[in-house]
Amino acid sequence: MAAAIAPDVDGLGIVPELLTRNTTHPLLWFSQYHHSLHTLAFALVVTFVAFLISANTERTRGQGIQDQHRSARPWMTVSLVFLSFHLHLLCDLAGARGPDGDQWPIPYLLPFSNSLQLTWSGQWALNAWPNFVITGVLLVATLWIAWKYGSSPVELASKQWNQKLIEVVRTRFR
Ligand SMILES: [Zn+2]
Repeated sequence: MAAAIAPDVDGLGIVPELLTRNTTHPLLWFSQYHHSLHTLAFALVVTFVAFLISANTERTRGQGIQDQHRSARPWMTVSLVFLSFHLHLLCDLAGARGPDGDQWPIPYLLPFSNSLQLTWSGQWALNAWPNFVITGVLLVATLWIAWKYGSSPVELASKQWNQKLIEVVRTRFR
């Protein structure tokens, strides 16, 4: 989940940009840098970090005798991270056209080359109906997985919050 969100770290510039837009020195950090981390190079950085984290977790788990769970191998984590990152890029290509019609081309080979600017002519707007349908379907799927397997994206933040959410979901949909 974190890997799938990671590319949009370059969109955090929207905060200073909005805060300074009516000043004499507006910071255009969103306009200038959004999509500058939507690249293969950053995907490899994120994947490498995931490898370091998962390899470390493997070692810690191997030492603990109470851990009965069979943990996924680091290569599994690494592949899913690389895939998730690219799923984000694919979704941006498919349905993230700006309100002004801007396609936000993806400079996939930056910082090494600016020649490849990925866009798709069929791209729909960020607030178009397919995005609402996809969001709705995935929300239902997320709740179903939470209900069935006791696992939700909230786990990323806290196991306790996840437990609370699972209780609520299971009480609501018996
Ligand atoms: Zn994005």
